[in-house]
Amino acid sequence: MKLNVVGSGYVGTTLAACLAEMGHNVSAIDIDEATVAALNQGSAPIHEPGLEDLLADHVGDRLQATTSYADAAAADCSFLAVGTPTNDDGSIDVAPLAAAAEMLGAALTEANGESSNSGGNVGSGADGSADAAAEDTHDHLVVVKSTITPPAVATVREALADGASVDSDQLDIEVATNPEFLREGSAVEDFRNPDKLVFGTASEGALETLETLYAPLMASTDAPVVRTDPETAMMIKYANNATLATKISLANDIGNICKAFGLDAYEVMDAVGLDDRIAGAFFESGVGYGGSCFPKDVAALRAAAREAGYEPPLLGATTTVNDRQPDRLLELLASHIDIEGARVAVLGLAFKPGTDDIRNSRAIPVIEGLLDRGATVVGYDPVAAENMRERFPSLTYADSAAEALADATGAVVTTDWDEFAALDSAFDEMATPVVVDGRRIIDRREGITYEGLTW
Ligand code: NAD
Repeated sequence: MKLNVVGSGYVGTTLAACLAEMGHNVSAIDIDEATVAALNQGSAPIHEPGLEDLLADHVGDRLQATTSYADAAAADCSFLAVGTPTNDDGSIDVAPLAAAAEMLGAALTEANGESSNSGGNVGSGADGSADAAAEDTHDHLVVVKSTITPPAVATVREALADGASVDSDQLDIEVATNPEFLREGSAVEDFRNPDKLVFGTASEGALETLETLYAPLMASTDAPVVRTDPETAMMIKYANNATLATKISLANDIGNICKAFGLDAYEVMDAVGLDDRIAGAFFESGVGYGGSCFPKDVAALRAAAREAGYEPPLLGATTTVNDRQPDRLLELLASHIDIEGARVAVLGLAFKPGTDDIRNSRAIPVIEGLLDRGATVVGYDPVAAENMRERFPSLTYADSAAEALADATGAVVTTDWDEFAALDSAFDEMATPVVVDGRRIIDRREGITYEGLTW
């Protein structure tokens, strides 16, 4: 099939490359010229294992990138994978996605011989009849990959209709949703081996299109397919992430209790996870969850629920526990050293290992807390330092963990990169070897004062 993928970030680039690998011809559309230029040279705009190989195989053949929507109508289907950032009140900002949908609506209409500015109807074909154009546009399916709240599905329809210069009830372009569950750091692998596929469609035709498009993937995995309506599909995505975030906060709550009792939360939660009724994953306690999804999605679900008249108390508590963990880490550090004037190494800047993404990384509140308390911060991360430099330009960034530790009065671990587990003699170079581990990646050893956050 011929497909457009609008938005070439973490989700869009992975999706575009994997759809090309499945045999589709993919046009990746992004408004960012540098991103498009990089993609067309086979270079991934983000750090994601396996992505460069896929781009090397398919760019210039089945995959190309463009800043233009002009040829969008040549495709059978367009995925929308534009970012949905957070507003101050926690709700999602659908404006970037709506802007993309509007451009797409206009492009699909113009290709049918109508100017979107002419006031013409998307249902008006070259012969002026509504029915003729209905046939022209009806087959083009717009699939929302971005994470949007159920009520925002209507906003995407309205934006497409605005672009097409018609009322949304006259829009003849169907909108489906197909939420994405991939994890950064293993996005390509997750796309190839999903736990489930969720198709949110409002018609048999749209469902058939999604099933045809995903047929190669469905044939190569045993992943169950959930077929539902567009709004429920997005609610599944939010409920999924709310569940995972709440598991982490529950593990942190229990972990903080364990720490107060002098017990090891990992020993406790590993045993809890052996219960058949409880899946053991996401019980790793520590400095909390970050990234572009969990904090944003929990906040957006709470805001959308509030808007609909329900304030979810449990999700409020999930957020509160998560927000407090960086402070707990700093309190532990302060129980060993005077932070004011101290040189503190922050090991790990990415929100998790395997990615250069620093969005909502727990390193951010930790660094802010250290700077507020008068510390000199030396940050280190194998791939995310450049992104963090944009957030904290005046911080010192080390080229290695050993360099960050040298002469430091204390160290905190905020990302569980494997290489930190192998650090050994580097601790000998610290001025005072105090290590507060927020990720349980460093082993307790002689010669260092070691504090685990929940163990
Ligand atoms: P991102 O910020 O990495 O990328 C978004 C891209 O959209 C950028 O390249 C930007 O230039 C482009 N863009 C913005 N406006 C555009 C327009 N009008 N036309 C074309 N391109 C435009 O975002 P992301 O992390 O890939 O997330 C995308 C969506 O997927 C979000 O809704 C997010 O919540 C969801 N999601 C993300 C993940 C993840 O792990 N990152 C996982 C599942 C779902």
